[in-house]
Amino acid sequence: MHDVLAAVYGPQHWWPAKTAFEVILGAYLTQNTAWKAVERSLENLRNAGALSIDGLRTISIPRLRRLIRPSGFYTRKAPALKAFVAMLDEEFGGSLERMAAAPTHALRQRLSALPGVGPETADAILLYALGHPVPVADEYLRRIADRHGLLEPAHARGRISYDQLSELTRRAFDGGAPEERAQLFNEFHALTVAVGKAHCKRTAHCEGCPLAADLKESL
Ligand code: SF4
Repeated sequence: MHDVLAAVYGPQHWWPAKTAFEVILGAYLTQNTAWKAVERSLENLRNAGALSIDGLRTISIPRLRRLIRPSGFYTRKAPALKAFVAMLDEEFGGSLERMAAAPTHALRQRLSALPGVGPETADAILLYALGHPVPVADEYLRRIADRHGLLEPAHARGRISYDQLSELTRRAFDGGAPEERAQLFNEFHALTVAVGKAHCKRTAHCEGCPLAADLKESL
């Protein structure tokens, strides 16, 4: 699937951000929100000089709430972002490079213990901001895997946990150097989002979908 989608859609250049810290902000802000709304919040932060670790460190929570209001759930997301920066300062001396050097498993546990960080956000931060080779699983991937018969019967029709879906992806990309795997996971997630948005919606639009031939084979 990766190869077929890559041939049709080309490189996706994810994540759409200029710095690793912007990736992290985007990963928090995009929860339950369309990316267009996230862009408005990021623009507000940029204009207020708060689109950096130091900017987030010094901004008050009420002001942060106002700036990220366009992406919704701001009363929850503002303190969650402040909690991330507090953790970065206390445990990694305020350095994302130092944080990225920690082992993947420990980082995933640490991120998951923060407020407002579920497994998908933790993995998006690990992969796209910190360069760790972890897959990101989402609803599009679950739908595609389900519709193409890749799930065990017990896991079909939504009965698969985030970690099980993530493990399925990890196994599909077994082997290779960590950097190579990180690049594959990076591209694969972006490509499944692309095909999911264009075709694999709540109702599948299989006609013209790059994965239609694979679907025929799997049925
Ligand atoms: S072929 Fe159909 S089921 Fe498969 S990814 Fe495309 S839209 Fe989804």
